[in-house]
Amino acid sequence: MMIIGEHRPTKLVIDRAAIRHNIQEEVQRLPENCELFMVVKANGYGHGAVQVAEAAKAAGATGFCVAILDEALELRAAGFDEPILVLGVVEPKYAPLMAREKVSATVAAEDWLDEAGHYLALSQPREPLRVHLGLDTGMGRIGFQTPTALKQVIAYLDDHTAAFTFEGMFTHFSTADEASTDYFDKQVARWDAFMAVVPNKPRYVHVTNSATSLWHADHNVNIVRYGAAGYGLNPSGKALQPPFELKPAMRLVSELAHCKQLNAGESVSYGATYTSTQDEWVGTVSLGYADGYERRLQGFHVLVDGQACEIIGRICMDQLMIRLPRQYPRGTKVVLLGRSGNQEITLQDLAEYCGTINYEIACGFTARLPRRYVH
Ligand SMILES: *Cc1c(COP(=O)(O)O)cnc(C)c1O
Repeated sequence: MMIIGEHRPTKLVIDRAAIRHNIQEEVQRLPENCELFMVVKANGYGHGAVQVAEAAKAAGATGFCVAILDEALELRAAGFDEPILVLGVVEPKYAPLMAREKVSATVAAEDWLDEAGHYLALSQPREPLRVHLGLDTGMGRIGFQTPTALKQVIAYLDDHTAAFTFEGMFTHFSTADEASTDYFDKQVARWDAFMAVVPNKPRYVHVTNSATSLWHADHNVNIVRYGAAGYGLNPSGKALQPPFELKPAMRLVSELAHCKQLNAGESVSYGATYTSTQDEWVGTVSLGYADGYERRLQGFHVLVDGQACEIIGRICMDQLMIRLPRQYPRGTKVVLLGRSGNQEITLQDLAEYCGTINYEIACGFTARLPRRYVH
């Protein structure tokens, strides 16, 4: 089992009210027949899958999406009985387990059904396996690639209703978070060609993630697969403005573990890459790259008492050092993500400094950091 740092002041603080706000605002924009499934893969983008699922349900989410089967089983074990779709391809040998747990499978190839059908016949679960057909309209990841292949697999499902329930059909857009709609429009055209060969639609037809639903809402069919925006993350970074305020749900806070004065000419951390040019106060924070606070953040800043304090020297596995404007007592609050005074550090700020996207920073925080839930 992974050790959680319960006896250390460093923690992620998750604001459930922010998650509810981000979901309620979106639910209000949806037409009557369109549901919101909260995407809680990767431990709810690092926020805690079960707690996020609870907040999402309270805010109007009627189902969940996850990436892998274990994440679906975690929700079932926690007592959620809403529909759960696994967005990735699960090994066919787990088809009976998925059927028993009423977890819906994404199907991307007909031979998957053959193999899954073999396992289902062996173990005879009480209900058929619910399947959503993935359609590749240009994401190039998983899914059927042509309307002909789609027609064929639907015929297969029609012939195998004891084993499978044809529950859904979906695609995924790769550029819905960009200002240019050229590629998006190509994907829409391919989607329309797929739909043209399906006279009888399954219960769930869905094409929108956060970005698509925020900026191309007219493409919503009957589910939104809502991830990033639910956590208050702008899926476009800063490129596009969301239609309502997205409230960040994650803060990362700690306290000074140590504070000392450094004389001019003294160095800090591995490699002695930082040397002070004058006497200065240096604080140590109990957080490092083993917590998912990336080593690349050297030179970035944290907030103490509403002031930005530079991270000096290399970030260690479990500790990092900052330059303080004056002496502060051990136990002084340190904000690594969130607000302090009138200053704020966002996941987007961390992502830009690291040359990545806000999603990666959020789900990079490791299990050693305790998650504390407020509101
Ligand atoms: C992760 C994922 C989503 C959610 O995307 P967001 O950008 O976080 O809203 C939706 N659909 C699929 C297929 C995904 O893999």
